[in-house]
Amino acid sequence: MHRTLADDLSRLPALLQSARDLAAGELASLAERPVARTGPAPAADRLPEAGTGGAGALARFAERWAPGFSASAGPRYLGFVTGGATPAALAGDWLTGAFDQNASGAAGSWAAALEHETVGWLRELFGLGPAHSGAFVTGASASNLVGLAVAREWLGERLGVDVSRDGAAALGPVPVLSGSPHSSVGKALSVLGIGRDRLLPVPVADGDREAVDVAALDAALTALGGRPAIVVANAGTVNTVDFDDLRAVGALRERHDFWLHVDAAFGGFAALSPEFAHLVDGLDAADSVCVDLHKWLNVPYDAAVQFTRRRDLQVAVFHNASPYLGAPTGDPDFLHLTPENSRRLRALPAWFSLTAYGREGHREIVERNVRLARDLGARLDARPEWDLLAPVRLNVVCFTTSEAPTGERLAALADAVAEGGEAFLTPTVFKGVPALRAAFSNWTTTRDDVERVAAALTRALRA
Ligand SMILES: *Cc1c(COP(=O)(O)O)cnc(C)c1O
Repeated sequence: MHRTLADDLSRLPALLQSARDLAAGELASLAERPVARTGPAPAADRLPEAGTGGAGALARFAERWAPGFSASAGPRYLGFVTGGATPAALAGDWLTGAFDQNASGAAGSWAAALEHETVGWLRELFGLGPAHSGAFVTGASASNLVGLAVAREWLGERLGVDVSRDGAAALGPVPVLSGSPHSSVGKALSVLGIGRDRLLPVPVADGDREAVDVAALDAALTALGGRPAIVVANAGTVNTVDFDDLRAVGALRERHDFWLHVDAAFGGFAALSPEFAHLVDGLDAADSVCVDLHKWLNVPYDAAVQFTRRRDLQVAVFHNASPYLGAPTGDPDFLHLTPENSRRLRALPAWFSLTAYGREGHREIVERNVRLARDLGARLDARPEWDLLAPVRLNVVCFTTSEAPTGERLAALADAVAEGGEAFLTPTVFKGVPALRAAFSNWTTTRDDVERVAAALTRALRA
């Protein structure tokens, strides 16, 4: 063994203690450090010929890189939809690395069984029934990709084509209908050989709504003349967290032949609260469902779950049989269900957080985040210089300036807030209007943070 490696081995507990000390220090200052780092990163170094050992690497990281990392795990990072990491989830994540299990299958370890247990808990959390099976993937983009891959295989079944063998071209053009799809849906269609341009936009409801107009969807399906299609329903749009009427969309299957995929990346968490669960009424009828976990479950990056009712088709797409890996059987290993072969045990941080805080603890995070988003919405609404572009339906505030809301102005405001270090918000465009979004999904955010964000916005506007 190389001498430096042997040294590190002999001092492993001390090295882990040092890493723990660094992490604890960073986390203790998380709420007060600048939320975003806007300066340039250091130039890339040369590959070290001789290493420094673990302690040297830790010192180098602490000095050279850590100061430039954002406080995205903290309470006032409101860009995109960004969760933090609950204490138990973080502990679970550390142990994922320490145990370093390959959750590709069940051979030789209970790790895959833990993933099954966790997927079962999540299914229950989101109100899905036993007909949905699932697996962990890296994020909602991968979850949408898997769901749409199974949808593609289903289209093949309807048209008498084995897509996994003959390829997507054998299907001919595939109609994919959606009201307000996330950009990752287009990306998935590109990867799947269906094509980004096969995504047919369906009109959404009028005014400040982003939910699909169900009558327009009905008409668009009728226009296909009986050709089977894929419908992507949206449960929680990124701009205003609007929800398609999942029951009404699902009911269209009585008259039209389509696979129903629901992107519930963060909107799925509405199911945790009796007050908001009606927003995802009908989710259980979906053929495939995407839910992100590194957003509102507050587990570290990266983790999401995908669910489907047709595991047989999923295996047709993803099976990876070989003499050394084995063939998919009655209870197929995860390597036959997702794009990966070898897989990190992503379920462990989620298992830790659900075990530590339960449904109740995670419900409290969701309900508090919604209250805080509404609080910020009310503060902005009360001031003449800001306009809310939609009511705060759940955890995102979508707003703009009442005067001169140009793209440049909104981007400059977002930059000014980031440079001030108090908060991080991201610009968007809502129905043609440049805007800002403030998305609440961190488990540590409080009312005090909302006050600070509102004050930072006012300062940026007056500067
Ligand atoms: C965030 C998000 C995605 C993409 O998720 P990643 O985890 O970034 O891959 C997809 N759909 C919706 C609705 C989202 O909010």
